[in-house]
Amino acid sequence: MNAPIFDPPNLPQCIKYLSALVGFNSASSDVPAADHGNEALIDWAMAELTAAGLTCRKIQTAPGKFNLIADTHPKLPLGLIFSGHSDTVPADPALWHSDPWTLTESCGMLYGLGACDMKGALACFMTAAAAAAELSRRMPDFFERGIRLLFTADEETSMQGAAAYAALSEPQAHLLVIGEPTALTPIVGHKGYAARCLTITGKAGHSSNPAGGCNALWGLQQALSVLKLMAWEFEQEQDEAYSVPYTTLNPGVVSGGEAVNQICAQVKLLFELRPIRPLPAAQLDELLQTRLQEGSSSGCTLELSTPYPDIPCFYQDRPQLEAYLAHLTKHACLKVNYCTEASLLQRCAQGTAVLGPGDIARAHQADEGVPIADLEGYLALLSALISDVCRAGGQQFQLMGDCM
Ligand SMILES: [Zn+2]
Repeated sequence: MNAPIFDPPNLPQCIKYLSALVGFNSASSDVPAADHGNEALIDWAMAELTAAGLTCRKIQTAPGKFNLIADTHPKLPLGLIFSGHSDTVPADPALWHSDPWTLTESCGMLYGLGACDMKGALACFMTAAAAAAELSRRMPDFFERGIRLLFTADEETSMQGAAAYAALSEPQAHLLVIGEPTALTPIVGHKGYAARCLTITGKAGHSSNPAGGCNALWGLQQALSVLKLMAWEFEQEQDEAYSVPYTTLNPGVVSGGEAVNQICAQVKLLFELRPIRPLPAAQLDELLQTRLQEGSSSGCTLELSTPYPDIPCFYQDRPQLEAYLAHLTKHACLKVNYCTEASLLQRCAQGTAVLGPGDIARAHQADEGVPIADLEGYLALLSALISDVCRAGGQQFQLMGDCM
């Protein structure tokens, strides 16, 4: 194992950064009154990181919303991207036992809005990158790959900040680490999400003569049979890294029909899929169209629409990266059912891991907090990652052969 970049990890500096980060109200929300900009936070981080020797760029992605890109070695190939969102969900101070925007320590925990999701990780990233820049000043040939910090806007709402970064022509890194709270367990995949609305249109008429119209509910019965069969087919391909180890298909909402003495002219069915492997929207739509049409003999017309844009799944086939991460963290890699920016950002690196301090179960609620021990553990992990991936002749490099 290579010597770590900083030993012991600079925990006091990390907590100072976290305290400042929590002090900014950077909540994002679909409700305009609860939506805050993140420019003050980004400006502060940019000043701190510039002073520490990093080269920083601030990029506007929406009105009042900014991404920050900060590089330790802009002239070297990119080794690592440490990425995190700078926004939080909104807080209701009345539900908190302490001020949400003041970092408060109690019983080994640090409480504050975003302390867990995910300003704790941002503070660790800043600490690690500043230490690497400092080391580089003393030992200019120590690194052969650079470290980039990426702070994104609006993850809690539209993920537009991550999408804006992914659309840039930036160099690909070897490894991308997204610091969402995973209690220091590496996450190497998550499901996607696709919702569809099926509109089934028949012909109205008096119920006393059902043959005089075309009942959309009979069309619905056939469509549900097709979808039930497809759900069973999806279940045949399993990935045991997930707690629900297959692509799920779930019908959620049915609406339609006006009166019991009328032939139902139209019905709408909302259903969703959560695929375990990439399923582009066009391919999914073609599959659904074909199967639903094949199964339809009711005389109704079927029309599929997409109520929300699909979220792609975070999918990679990197067994050696998984072995490396399991060795590094002493935790087996997992896949999860919730979505992160990984699905958008994974194209920016050859391998991607979601790995961060704190427990996701403590996020998005009053009295959100992060264990100090997790911050300390995460700093040590970041130090080892930097050493393995970015240092000249990094020893663990071979372990990551499938993604390098
Ligand atoms: Zn988060």
